[in-house]
Amino acid sequence: MAFVFDPPAQPSVAVAGSDDRLPVRRIFCVGRNYAAHAREMGKDPDRDPPFFFTKPADAVVESGEAIAYPPETENFHYEAELVAVIGTGGINIPEEKSLDHVWGYAVGNDLTRRDLQLKAREQGRPWDWGKAFDRSAVIGPVHPVAKVGHPDKGSIRLTVNGEVKQDADLAELIWSVPEIISILSHSMELRPGDLIMTGTPAGVGPLVEGDVCVVEVEGLGAIETRIDPRS
Ligand code: MN
Repeated sequence: MAFVFDPPAQPSVAVAGSDDRLPVRRIFCVGRNYAAHAREMGKDPDRDPPFFFTKPADAVVESGEAIAYPPETENFHYEAELVAVIGTGGINIPEEKSLDHVWGYAVGNDLTRRDLQLKAREQGRPWDWGKAFDRSAVIGPVHPVAKVGHPDKGSIRLTVNGEVKQDADLAELIWSVPEIISILSHSMELRPGDLIMTGTPAGVGPLVEGDVCVVEVEGLGAIETRIDPRS
């Protein structure tokens, strides 16, 4: 058997303090998981079950890489997020066992073509063009649980050119990491290398060419992204 063309490279992200790489399988993202952000998006925060969208594994971008301003948008947004990384797969995972499935945590930036996302939302169409485009998931080095534990409180902060735009605490998550993993695993079988972007706090806004965006989560360091001109 031969492949008719070379199979794509395995997408992967860095591991903090190591030359090893963590292979990425899928990227799940939680929508509206901080009350103040739900309100700024024109929705009531509530305890309705969380909803998810996805990005392709090969949308990952590392900290320090530049991203060309993406096509088809005039309103390109940052979203600071905590990322939980699955290391042990499972299905129908009870909440009290969820954390046993986590390999580590990273800082993320859920880049969004907000104009396309909102238009899709209005028209009842899929969010993919707003959320799952090329190079739309900045993911920092993954810190193993053995080193950082399970962060459930602490600062999450985003700056653009040094100016603070998002400043919140992980304790404000509407749905916690154990709850998210349990709920997700009742719909999809989770596997090693699945990443979960857990949602963004209030203060989302635009990036333009030349901007430098930094996201920092207490205990997990900072990631940096520069926006280049459209290619
Ligand atoms: Mn998000």
